[in-house]
Amino acid sequence: MDNCIFCKIASGRIPAAKVYEDEEMLVFKDIEPKAKVHLLAIPKVHFKLLSQMDENSSAIVGRMMAKIPDIAKESGCQNGYRLVINQGGDAGQEVFHLHIHILGGEKLPLNIV
Ligand code: 5GP
Ligand code: ZN
Repeated sequence: MDNCIFCKIASGRIPAAKVYEDEEMLVFKDIEPKAKVHLLAIPKVHFKLLSQMDENSSAIVGRMMAKIPDIAKESGCQNGYRLVINQGGDAGQEVFHLHIHILGGEKLPLNIV
């Protein structure tokens, strides 16, 4: 997607503070962190919503979920963390490329992203 900021980050056209990357996913620091640890995990393939996943993209998201615990722990979430996936307008989704917020590194308040 030419006008998608997270596609541009995934392809290296826009810089980001990467903490993990493999062939199908990327994890980088949120530019406006809402917690001591605030990472974004994205699939490299572009889609906006969980409702748009097909067999391939849902398998990728499943593998992302399996990798997130180690990535979170290695990034400073030793005492737990929170995952948030905003879906659409009422949730306040701002970037329309599926992303999983990883929040932690401190005791988290209820409403942060
Ligand atoms: P959403 O509200 O869509 O769930 O979250 C989008 C997140 O992306 C926000 O937390 C915002 O700070 C982050 N973000 C937006 N643009 C950029 C960017 O260019 N680089 C990085 N690292 N994060 C971004
Ligand atoms: Zn995209």
